[in-house]
Amino acid sequence: MKKIIVCLTILGAMNSMNAQFNLGKAAGVVTKGAKALTFTNEDAIKLSKESVDWMDKNNAVAGPKDPYTVRLNKLFGKHKTQDGLNLNYKVYKVKDINAFACADGSVRVFSSLMDIMTDNELLAVIGHEIGHVKNQDTKDAMKSAYLKAAALDAASSASGAVATLNDSQIGKMANAFLDASHSKKQESEADTYSYDFMKANKYDVVGAYTAFKKLALLSEGSTQSGFEKMFNSHPDSEKRAQAVKKRAEKDGLWKDPGTVAIPTTKLTK
Ligand SMILES: [Zn+2]
Repeated sequence: MKKIIVCLTILGAMNSMNAQFNLGKAAGVVTKGAKALTFTNEDAIKLSKESVDWMDKNNAVAGPKDPYTVRLNKLFGKHKTQDGLNLNYKVYKVKDINAFACADGSVRVFSSLMDIMTDNELLAVIGHEIGHVKNQDTKDAMKSAYLKAAALDAASSASGAVATLNDSQIGKMANAFLDASHSKKQESEADTYSYDFMKANKYDVVGAYTAFKKLALLSEGSTQSGFEKMFNSHPDSEKRAQAVKKRAEKDGLWKDPGTVAIPTTKLTK
Protein backbone atom coordinates (compact mmCIF):
# COMPACT_ATOMS: atom_id res chain seq x y z
CA MET A 1 0.00 0.00 0.00
CA LYS A 2 1.44 3.31 -1.02
CA LYS A 3 0.52 6.77 0.07
CA ILE A 4 0.79 10.37 -0.95
CA ILE A 5 0.78 13.42 1.23
CA VAL A 6 -2.33 15.39 0.41
CA CYS A 7 -1.75 18.44 2.50
CA LEU A 8 -0.79 22.06 2.19
CA THR A 9 1.67 23.79 4.46
CA ILE A 10 2.00 27.35 5.65
CA LEU A 11 5.58 27.59 4.46
CA GLY A 12 5.71 25.77 1.18
CA ALA A 13 7.28 22.58 -0.03
CA MET A 14 8.79 20.17 2.41
CA ASN A 15 11.98 19.32 0.65
CA SER A 16 14.86 19.84 3.03
CA MET A 17 17.32 17.02 3.43
CA ASN A 18 17.87 17.68 7.14
CA ALA A 19 14.26 17.95 8.16
CA GLN A 20 13.31 16.28 11.38
CA PHE A 21 9.68 16.04 10.39
CA ASN A 22 8.95 12.67 8.86
CA LEU A 23 7.09 13.33 5.66
CA GLY A 24 6.79 9.70 4.80
CA LYS A 25 8.56 9.65 1.45
CA ALA A 26 8.98 5.93 1.93
CA ALA A 27 5.26 5.56 2.26
CA GLY A 28 4.75 6.35 -1.38
CA VAL A 29 1.41 6.89 -2.99
CA VAL A 30 -1.98 5.27 -3.01
CA THR A 31 -2.99 4.62 -6.54
CA LYS A 32 -5.14 1.55 -6.39
CA GLY A 33 -8.74 2.60 -6.50
CA ALA A 34 -7.92 6.23 -7.12
CA LYS A 35 -9.38 7.32 -10.40
CA ALA A 36 -7.11 9.56 -12.41
CA LEU A 37 -9.69 11.43 -14.38
CA THR A 38 -12.59 11.47 -11.99
CA PHE A 39 -10.85 12.60 -8.86
CA THR A 40 -13.46 13.43 -6.29
CA ASN A 41 -13.17 15.27 -3.02
CA GLU A 42 -13.92 11.91 -1.38
CA ASP A 43 -10.81 10.48 -3.06
CA ALA A 44 -8.73 13.34 -1.67
CA ILE A 45 -10.25 12.92 1.78
CA LYS A 46 -9.59 9.20 1.81
CA LEU A 47 -6.00 9.56 0.64
CA SER A 48 -5.28 12.38 3.03
CA LYS A 49 -6.78 10.52 5.98
CA GLU A 50 -4.43 7.62 5.26
CA SER A 51 -1.49 9.99 4.88
CA VAL A 52 -2.25 11.76 8.15
CA ASP A 53 -2.65 8.46 9.99
CA TRP A 54 0.76 7.49 8.69
CA MET A 55 2.33 10.79 9.70
CA ASP A 56 0.74 10.63 13.16
CA LYS A 57 2.29 7.22 13.66
CA ASN A 58 5.69 8.33 12.43
CA ASN A 59 6.08 11.68 14.18
CA ALA A 60 6.22 12.67 17.84
CA VAL A 61 2.63 13.67 18.64
CA ALA A 62 2.21 15.76 21.80
CA GLY A 63 0.16 13.92 24.43
CA PRO A 64 -3.13 15.19 25.91
CA LYS A 65 -1.46 16.85 28.92
CA ASP A 66 1.50 18.23 27.04
CA PRO A 67 1.73 22.05 27.33
CA TYR A 68 1.65 22.30 23.54
CA THR A 69 -1.60 20.35 23.36
CA VAL A 70 -3.07 22.37 26.23
CA ARG A 71 -2.21 25.57 24.40
CA LEU A 72 -3.57 24.37 21.06
CA ASN A 73 -6.78 23.16 22.74
CA LYS A 74 -7.22 26.66 24.08
CA LEU A 75 -6.79 28.20 20.63
CA PHE A 76 -8.25 25.61 18.28
CA GLY A 77 -10.76 23.77 20.50
CA LYS A 78 -13.62 26.13 19.82
CA HIS A 79 -13.09 26.05 16.06
CA LYS A 80 -13.31 22.31 15.44
CA THR A 81 -16.56 22.71 13.53
CA GLN A 82 -15.70 26.08 11.99
CA ASP A 83 -17.63 26.84 8.84
CA GLY A 84 -19.43 23.48 8.90
CA LEU A 85 -16.15 21.56 8.66
CA ASN A 86 -15.14 18.57 10.73
CA LEU A 87 -11.63 19.50 11.84
CA ASN A 88 -9.12 17.74 14.03
CA TYR A 89 -5.73 18.93 15.19
CA LYS A 90 -2.54 17.71 16.82
CA VAL A 91 0.89 19.07 17.66
CA TYR A 92 3.99 17.42 16.23
CA LYS A 93 6.95 17.95 18.53
CA VAL A 94 9.53 18.63 15.87
CA LYS A 95 12.19 21.29 15.31
CA ASP A 96 10.88 22.20 11.90
CA ILE A 97 8.75 25.33 11.74
CA ASN A 98 5.51 24.67 9.91
CA ALA A 99 1.88 23.67 9.97
CA PHE A 100 -0.27 21.90 7.44
CA ALA A 101 -3.82 21.04 6.55
CA CYS A 102 -5.21 18.05 4.70
CA ALA A 103 -8.37 17.47 2.74
CA ASP A 104 -9.92 15.34 5.48
CA GLY A 105 -9.87 18.28 7.90
CA SER A 106 -6.70 17.31 9.73
CA VAL A 107 -4.55 20.25 10.79
CA ARG A 108 -1.11 19.62 12.26
CA VAL A 109 0.86 22.36 13.96
CA PHE A 110 4.55 21.92 14.70
CA SER A 111 5.80 22.73 18.21
CA SER A 112 8.62 24.92 16.89
CA LEU A 113 6.09 27.12 15.13
CA MET A 114 4.24 27.43 18.44
CA ASP A 115 7.52 28.38 20.11
CA ILE A 116 7.87 31.50 17.99
CA MET A 117 4.25 32.55 17.52
CA THR A 118 1.92 34.36 19.90
CA ASP A 119 -1.64 33.15 20.39
CA ASN A 120 -2.96 35.64 17.86
CA GLU A 121 -0.34 34.64 15.31
CA LEU A 122 -1.17 30.97 15.77
CA LEU A 123 -4.85 31.75 15.31
CA ALA A 124 -3.96 33.41 12.01
CA VAL A 125 -2.04 30.28 10.94
CA ILE A 126 -4.95 28.09 12.05
CA GLY A 127 -7.34 30.30 10.08
CA HIS A 128 -5.10 29.98 7.02
CA GLU A 129 -5.06 26.18 7.26
CA ILE A 130 -8.84 26.03 7.79
CA GLY A 131 -9.10 28.15 4.65
CA HIS A 132 -7.23 25.50 2.67
CA VAL A 133 -9.61 22.81 3.93
CA LYS A 134 -12.70 24.92 3.24
CA ASN A 135 -11.52 25.88 -0.25
CA GLN A 136 -10.72 22.24 -1.07
CA ASP A 137 -7.26 23.31 -2.19
CA THR A 138 -5.71 20.00 -1.29
CA LYS A 139 -8.11 18.23 -3.62
CA ASP A 140 -7.09 20.45 -6.54
CA ALA A 141 -3.41 20.04 -5.75
CA MET A 142 -3.79 16.30 -5.43
CA LYS A 143 -5.73 15.96 -8.64
CA SER A 144 -3.28 18.07 -10.61
CA ALA A 145 -0.37 16.05 -9.24
CA TYR A 146 -2.13 12.81 -9.99
CA LEU A 147 -2.91 13.82 -13.57
CA LYS A 148 0.67 14.93 -14.16
CA ALA A 149 1.93 11.58 -12.96
CA ALA A 150 -0.66 9.73 -15.00
CA ALA A 151 0.38 11.65 -18.11
CA LEU A 152 3.86 10.21 -17.71
CA ASP A 153 2.52 6.87 -18.72
CA ALA A 154 0.68 7.07 -22.00
CA ALA A 155 -0.47 3.49 -21.88
CA SER A 156 -2.19 3.76 -18.55
CA SER A 157 -3.53 7.24 -19.07
CA ALA A 158 -5.05 6.13 -22.38
CA SER A 159 -7.22 3.73 -20.47
CA GLY A 160 -8.63 6.62 -18.49
CA ALA A 161 -7.72 5.17 -15.13
CA VAL A 162 -4.28 4.49 -13.77
CA ALA A 163 -4.04 1.24 -11.91
CA THR A 164 -0.56 1.54 -10.52
CA LEU A 165 2.33 3.93 -10.79
CA ASN A 166 5.92 2.84 -10.52
CA ASP A 167 8.27 4.34 -7.96
CA SER A 168 9.67 6.99 -10.26
CA GLN A 169 6.18 8.11 -11.23
CA ILE A 170 5.26 8.22 -7.56
CA GLY A 171 8.21 10.49 -6.91
CA LYS A 172 7.21 12.73 -9.81
CA MET A 173 3.66 12.82 -8.58
CA ALA A 174 4.73 13.81 -5.07
CA ASN A 175 6.91 16.55 -6.53
CA ALA A 176 4.11 17.72 -8.77
CA PHE A 177 1.90 17.89 -5.72
CA LEU A 178 4.42 19.96 -3.81
CA ASP A 179 4.75 22.27 -6.81
CA ALA A 180 1.01 22.62 -6.87
CA SER A 181 1.08 23.64 -3.23
CA HIS A 182 2.79 26.84 -4.30
CA SER A 183 -0.30 28.18 -6.06
CA LYS A 184 -0.28 31.86 -5.23
CA LYS A 185 -4.00 32.14 -5.78
CA GLN A 186 -4.79 29.44 -3.24
CA GLU A 187 -2.35 30.92 -0.74
CA SER A 188 -3.80 34.38 -1.06
CA GLU A 189 -7.35 33.01 -0.79
CA ALA A 190 -6.37 31.13 2.37
CA ASP A 191 -4.84 34.37 3.68
CA THR A 192 -8.10 36.17 2.99
CA TYR A 193 -9.98 33.40 4.74
CA SER A 194 -7.64 33.74 7.71
CA TYR A 195 -8.16 37.48 7.92
CA ASP A 196 -11.95 37.07 7.79
CA PHE A 197 -11.71 34.31 10.40
CA MET A 198 -9.73 36.60 12.71
CA LYS A 199 -12.11 39.49 12.18
CA ALA A 200 -15.30 37.44 12.61
CA ASN A 201 -14.01 35.97 15.86
CA LYS A 202 -12.85 39.36 17.10
CA TYR A 203 -9.22 38.27 17.26
CA ASP A 204 -6.54 40.87 16.64
CA VAL A 205 -5.97 40.81 12.86
CA VAL A 206 -2.55 42.35 13.39
CA GLY A 207 -1.57 38.83 14.50
CA ALA A 208 -1.82 37.76 10.86
CA TYR A 209 0.55 40.58 9.94
CA THR A 210 3.15 39.76 12.59
CA ALA A 211 2.91 36.03 11.78
CA PHE A 212 3.90 36.73 8.17
CA LYS A 213 6.60 39.15 9.31
CA LYS A 214 8.09 36.34 11.37
CA LEU A 215 7.93 33.95 8.40
CA ALA A 216 9.65 36.63 6.33
CA LEU A 217 12.39 36.89 8.95
CA LEU A 218 12.84 33.12 8.80
CA SER A 219 13.19 33.22 5.04
CA GLU A 220 15.87 35.87 5.46
CA GLY A 221 17.70 33.32 7.56
CA SER A 222 17.63 35.18 10.85
CA THR A 223 16.69 32.13 12.87
CA GLN A 224 17.52 31.81 16.51
CA SER A 225 19.71 28.98 17.58
CA GLY A 226 17.62 26.02 18.63
CA PHE A 227 15.11 26.60 15.87
CA GLU A 228 15.85 24.76 12.74
CA LYS A 229 14.55 26.04 9.50
CA MET A 230 13.21 23.28 7.34
CA PHE A 231 11.67 24.84 4.33
CA ASN A 232 12.32 27.40 1.75
CA SER A 233 10.03 29.83 3.39
CA HIS A 234 7.31 31.26 1.26
CA PRO A 235 9.01 33.96 -0.78
CA ASP A 236 6.03 36.27 -0.49
CA SER A 237 5.76 36.45 3.29
CA GLU A 238 6.58 40.15 3.31
CA LYS A 239 4.00 40.85 0.60
CA ARG A 240 1.43 38.80 2.47
CA ALA A 241 2.12 40.80 5.63
CA GLN A 242 1.62 44.03 3.71
CA ALA A 243 -1.68 42.74 2.29
CA VAL A 244 -2.93 42.12 5.83
CA LYS A 245 -1.80 45.59 6.90
CA LYS A 246 -3.64 47.19 3.99
CA ARG A 247 -6.89 45.45 4.83
CA ALA A 248 -6.53 46.15 8.54
CA GLU A 249 -5.98 49.85 7.82
CA LYS A 250 -9.05 49.90 5.59
CA ASP A 251 -11.09 48.20 8.33
CA GLY A 252 -9.79 50.57 11.02
CA LEU A 253 -8.25 47.58 12.81
CA TRP A 254 -4.59 48.44 12.30
CA LYS A 255 -2.34 48.98 15.29
CA ASP A 256 1.37 49.32 14.64
CA PRO A 257 2.99 46.33 16.37
CA GLY A 258 6.45 47.94 16.21
CA THR A 259 9.48 45.93 15.15
CA VAL A 260 8.71 42.24 14.76
CA ALA A 261 11.38 39.80 15.89
CA ILE A 262 11.68 36.06 16.36
CA PRO A 263 11.35 35.43 20.12
CA THR A 264 14.48 34.22 21.86
CA THR A 265 12.55 32.20 24.43
CA LYS A 266 9.88 29.63 23.69
CA LEU A 267 6.34 30.96 23.85
CA THR A 268 4.83 27.64 24.95
CA LYS A 269 5.66 27.26 28.62
ZN1 LIG B 1 -1.06 27.87 2.68
